[in-house]
Amino acid sequence: MTVRGFTSQPEKVESLPIISESAVVTDVVALDRDRRTEIRERLRTLASRHGFEGEIPRDGEIDWSAVFTAATAKQRRLAPVIGALRDRYLREHPALVKVVFESEQPFDFAAGQYLSVRYGGRTRAYSIASSPTADATELCIRRVPDGRLSVRLCDELEPGDRLAIRGPSGDLLLEDPSDRDLVFLATGTGVAPMKSMIDYTFATGRDTFAGQKRDVWLFLGAAWKDDLPYHDQFTAMADEHDHFHYVPCLSREAWLSRWHGETDYVQDVLMKHVDERALEDAVFGYHMAEMMEDRPERDEPIGIDPHAVEVYACGLNAMVFGMETAVTRLGVPSHRIHAEGYG
Ligand SMILES: Cc1cc2nc3c(=O)[nH]c(=O)nc-3n(C[C@H](O)[C@H](O)[C@H](O)COP(=O)(O)OP(=O)(O)OC[C@H]3O[C@@H](n4cnc5c(N)ncnc54)[C@H](O)[C@@H]3O)c2cc1C
Repeated sequence: MTVRGFTSQPEKVESLPIISESAVVTDVVALDRDRRTEIRERLRTLASRHGFEGEIPRDGEIDWSAVFTAATAKQRRLAPVIGALRDRYLREHPALVKVVFESEQPFDFAAGQYLSVRYGGRTRAYSIASSPTADATELCIRRVPDGRLSVRLCDELEPGDRLAIRGPSGDLLLEDPSDRDLVFLATGTGVAPMKSMIDYTFATGRDTFAGQKRDVWLFLGAAWKDDLPYHDQFTAMADEHDHFHYVPCLSREAWLSRWHGETDYVQDVLMKHVDERALEDAVFGYHMAEMMEDRPERDEPIGIDPHAVEVYACGLNAMVFGMETAVTRLGVPSHRIHAEGYG
């Protein structure tokens, strides 16, 4: 199947039906942290281990180009680490915000849909992160560097501000209840529609069918731990429900802090959790076969059966395409794969 891509172009999102010209922002919360002090400490540790201490001042500006040159002269494999720490250090904060708003009239939407949001003369699409059963409507917005709207939403928005809201729209929707298990794959703010669907699934009892629990899996990818939207909530849900499996996958965190969790792409990590009895017909390349070798030991035989799941994927187009290709190769029928790309 083809990734269902939407355009953020104003002509599309501005043509949606108006919900509110003046929805009131009630809460804005930064989900990520300013980690510059932590990064400097980490650099100092690396520097003393590899002998480039002279390049890292205790405070004040860091000359990243000098650090890079000194570090890689000592140890070439430090190049990606220093590059990642530099990018994170220089990143504006906040880069990930939760925005809650109230409209004058309640409005209906389905879990997984998006709204068009107009603020300061710009309109963009944002997925609804809250369940239709929740009292407040919530969005989760990532700063796109130099982005015309997301930067303003991250930097300026505060309670009491007004947004024009249109919609809802979008076809990334849950299938009718069935005995199939649910697999959600997302990167970054692609988790917003997934959170809406997961909250809705548990709030309405769709996590069971005919008295049987359905396994609900969430594979969520990001670079850094504090870039995982709703990490604490999903962790708490996994503690509460033995059939909710939350698998965070962090590509860079281990370079900064103790991270012993997954570091690969979400679709690669998914492989490790597939029930191997269901894989006779799967089409594997070398890379996927390698992933299959690295499967966690389990006390009980739980695992994803590709023939008995529905899969929902969301994130940037290229990432969603990778996720979709991987689950198709595993044998998930294309009509059970629902994907949305953010552009
Ligand atoms: C259906 C749908 C749902 C969406 N839901 C969310 C959501 O829940 N949370 C969220 O944060 N965003 C979401 N987006 C993306 C959002 O609509 C905007 O595209 C994004 O906020 C950037 O807008 P901007 O005005 O800041 O950047 P612009 O000024 O429009 O773009 C600046 C530059 O960044 C590039 N760019 C645009 N979007 C992205 C992106 N997402 N990542 C990387 N580069 C980009 C552009 O190509 C351009 O070069 C969604 C998009 C769609 C289509």
